[in-house]
Amino acid sequence: MRKPKDWGQSCPNPECTHYRRMQQGNVSAIATYLTQSGKRRIFRCHTCVTHFAETRETVFFDLRTSEEKVMMALKMLLVRVDLTGISFVLGVTEETVLAWLRRAAHQAEEINCHLLRALPVTQVQLDEMWNFIERKHACETDAAGESLPDGEDGRQWVWISFAPEFRVMIAAVVGPRTLDTAKEVVAATKARVAGIPAFFSDGFTCYLAALIAAFHVVTTFARTGKRGRPRKPRCEPHPDLVYGQLVKQKKR
Ligand SMILES: [Zn+2]
Repeated sequence: MRKPKDWGQSCPNPECTHYRRMQQGNVSAIATYLTQSGKRRIFRCHTCVTHFAETRETVFFDLRTSEEKVMMALKMLLVRVDLTGISFVLGVTEETVLAWLRRAAHQAEEINCHLLRALPVTQVQLDEMWNFIERKHACETDAAGESLPDGEDGRQWVWISFAPEFRVMIAAVVGPRTLDTAKEVVAATKARVAGIPAFFSDGFTCYLAALIAAFHVVTTFARTGKRGRPRKPRCEPHPDLVYGQLVKQKKR
């Protein structure tokens, strides 16, 4: 009997017994289709009879742009070319580049969820990487320097949590410069590290609140037997939580 070819594909159907399992002999190629980047295949899982495309669950799925162009945009982002520059070079809108980045970030998250667990990290740097879209009205912030959540300015930041010991990016989130995004990146970090590492950041005010939201202890008080309302439980920073801010100042 002919051995089924291993296409490097696994079944994407969570209900299937072969879900995400490689080299089980359940997948075969049944058709091809043409994309901007050439021929791609359609596969079938024989276990659950699901059909799926080669590019599913990738950054490229169902894009009307060539894979090469998307990769180029992502590479330029990595070397910190701003959105305006990328959109000029590739002839696409800034919104399109941002949409690609979101997809890439989402995919990276999926992969990280599987690979990054219980990392023995002792230090984490938190950073908002850069302000993409520099428009004149992008400076609208509240008094604490937070951008307005639904700000019309379209301003997006890339939030990074980074472990310098391993040079590993633990989590990356694209979002506005708000407490909610800070909480998101801290929660994603917490899910991937073992214990409570020491955190360092710039002077952005929201991190402290976000860190306490993730790492705290709740003290409850036993009833005293006396009259009156019992004391409310108190939420305090976890005793192992260490947080330092590095605030740069220019010399006059
Ligand atoms: Zn299947």
